[in-house]
Amino acid sequence: MTVRVPGKLNLHLGVGDVRGDGYHDLCTVFQAVALTDDVTVSVAEEPGVEVVGEGSAAVPAGASNLAWRAVQTLATHVGRDPDDPKVRVAIRKGIPVAGGMAGGSADAAATLVALASLWRLEMGRDELATIAAKLGSDVPFLLHGGNALGTGRGEQIVPVLSRHTYHWVLAFDRRGLSTPDVYTELDRLRAEGDPPRVGSVEPLLEALATGDPRQLALLLGNDLQAAAVSLRPGLRRTLRAGVSAGALAGIVSGSGPTCAFLCGDAQSAVEVAAELSGAGVCRTVRVAQGPVPGARTVGGEETR
Ligand code: ATP
Repeated sequence: MTVRVPGKLNLHLGVGDVRGDGYHDLCTVFQAVALTDDVTVSVAEEPGVEVVGEGSAAVPAGASNLAWRAVQTLATHVGRDPDDPKVRVAIRKGIPVAGGMAGGSADAAATLVALASLWRLEMGRDELATIAAKLGSDVPFLLHGGNALGTGRGEQIVPVLSRHTYHWVLAFDRRGLSTPDVYTELDRLRAEGDPPRVGSVEPLLEALATGDPRQLALLLGNDLQAAAVSLRPGLRRTLRAGVSAGALAGIVSGSGPTCAFLCGDAQSAVEVAAELSGAGVCRTVRVAQGPVPGARTVGGEETR
């Protein structure tokens, strides 16, 4: 059973002050983009996780892999032995690791969908979403995909309609950034001064409804960007290079360091990608369109 799952961009990411429990309240607009991981689960006597593809060397193959945590959590939920679930998980990564596109969460979402099918569980998407929220704040969105408004820690999602397809160029950095480190840096910057904050999310929701990429470009915003750039100053150069190459706007994706450039159309995205590849400001450049659906089975055949 193979499930394909997209990565996410945050078109708007408003981060509240740190709460007593160490988390931050978020107000975010997610968009799922066509940069995907494939997750295959199969029945096996020898349980475990294997990972190949983009950045796979940096991904844990053991119990700390988020996909494996998804196996154990779902097994517990349905009364199977979480320490001997008799499945193997094979992950083919296309989403950059520690890149701010929620690749680990995507694999967890894909694993839930694949296992629910492999084990023939009669579970609705809502029940899966409740389990997903226990695994991480981005996991419910990656089950769903499309565009969505996320609140709480990002796990409470409401779909946002948009008929338009947007064309993005994504610049992967040479090394990842740790999400907790980026939040800590934001808290430090806020304790020292008053870095600007993104405003209300309403104008961006309206721009999504109209579908004009030029209007959307003016409204992209990410409170984590200043912190990511503070930890990785070279990102400033990457962001400038994308806009010089003809993108409408550039933004750090989530906690970074992946930079996402919104382009006017498909042709412009190809041109921006070509110029950015030659500019020497990042490791790899990809073109991806969004929004796309969340975790979905590929081929549809069960391999029990
Ligand atoms: P975030 O969801 O915080 O934005 P991210 O996109 O920056 O995360 P991920 O690719 O999800 O980063 O990986 C974050 C860390 O999680 C990695 O450094 C890796 O060690 C660990 N990890 C665990 N499972 C996975 C997985 N299946 N794929 C990628 N990373 C994983």
